[in-house]
Amino acid sequence: MSDCALCDAPGGRVVWRDDFCRVVLADEPDYPGFLRVILNRHVREMTDLVPADRSRLMMMVCKTEQVVR
Ligand SMILES: [Zn+2]
Repeated sequence: MSDCALCDAPGGRVVWRDDFCRVVLADEPDYPGFLRVILNRHVREMTDLVPADRSRLMMMVCKTEQVVR
């Protein structure tokens, strides 16, 4: 158990996942269909990631956006 809401729970309905990150349908009543990309391991900030992992995560964000559009 940690103090991090995104590590303690899926954060929504998981629509996709791999060993690196997951994409969840966030439970945000004001934003129906809002997807969130969540890294599986805990890091505080994007800049705590090594550059290769930052790129991988941003790529996932863009791929997810592309699917939604
Ligand atoms: Zn966390």
